[in-house]
Amino acid sequence: MKKYNFNAGPSILPEFTIENTANAIRNFNDSNLSLMEISHRSKDFQAVMDEAEALFKEILEIPAGYSVLFLGGGASLQFCMVPYNLLEKKAAYLNTGTWANKALKEAKIFGEAVEVASSKDANFSYIPKNYEIPTDADYFHITTNNTIFGTEIRKDIDSPVPLVADMSSDIFSRPIDVSKYGLIYGGAQKNLAPAGVAFVIVKDELLGKVSRQIPTMLDYRTHIANGSMFNTPPCVPIFAALQTLKWLKQLGGLQKMEQKNIEKADLLYNEIDRNRLFKGTAATEDRSIMNVCFVMNDEYKDLEADFLQYAVSQGMVGIKGHRSVGGFRASIYNAMPMESVQALVDCMKKFESNL
Ligand SMILES: *Cc1c(COP(=O)(O)O)cnc(C)c1O
Repeated sequence: MKKYNFNAGPSILPEFTIENTANAIRNFNDSNLSLMEISHRSKDFQAVMDEAEALFKEILEIPAGYSVLFLGGGASLQFCMVPYNLLEKKAAYLNTGTWANKALKEAKIFGEAVEVASSKDANFSYIPKNYEIPTDADYFHITTNNTIFGTEIRKDIDSPVPLVADMSSDIFSRPIDVSKYGLIYGGAQKNLAPAGVAFVIVKDELLGKVSRQIPTMLDYRTHIANGSMFNTPPCVPIFAALQTLKWLKQLGGLQKMEQKNIEKADLLYNEIDRNRLFKGTAATEDRSIMNVCFVMNDEYKDLEADFLQYAVSQGMVGIKGHRSVGGFRASIYNAMPMESVQALVDCMKKFESNL
């Protein structure tokens, strides 16, 4: 049966990425060797790394003065690497959910980390507004897309101090003005590649300013100086990321991608708003175009298990909501085709009319 993959992460990847990566795992560049069994220092792999970095910069239109890194350890290691490298006295964090909170917690190990605002009072169903960013902070940290709660900051905000963003689950979903950020990071397993690699975009001039000693592997400068090859990089995920970047470019880049993402999200949110059984959990103006969270209206609450079972029987995968929100979550990342979102919408309509 056809499966519609709404998994939150690791999640759907373009067919192009999976196909090309599978082929390279069998026979990389007609070498009769697997991508998994060659030296990362070989000419052929170096070309993969160089092209991945170049395409990353091209598609996001990253200005001069920034480095792009591919590192192990996931987004979670960045929760500690960011303050290790950037926090001298004080950092400011916007608390918009589970991941933002984890980032904040790590920063506290390194110095004063203040929470400038939080939406915990309403189970992170909105993005706080009208907060003040302390001008004496070394940086201000935001999580642009809150994967678990389905809220998103889709505008590049102005910050008086270097802006640091966890973009794990919305990188490449829309054009961004990188010049407004000091550092952007994320795990690749939502919109780019299989798990195992994290990306970091860092403004070079922000580095080397803290007085503490930084372990070699945790110092961004080590990886900049070695082109993300100080040690063995995650070769297969990096190769897969390159395929996704090629796919994105062929498709027409980020403007095109954003347009498609908005169309998909509108289709699903419109059905959630129309269908008497369902309601969205995120504040309308903060709704994510990547993770769509919804529950059943109070009077139909006891039908949630039935709907889930019905959706699964129709091929829907991964739509059970995260335990901290309940209900349902449909992750509709870049690689998700419109037809799959339509299939979920059809499911919701059918379930309603069968009642
Ligand atoms: C998935 C996710 C993470 C965690 O990523 P890991 O690579 O597993 O550490 C962090 N932040 C956000 C916003 C995420 O969606």
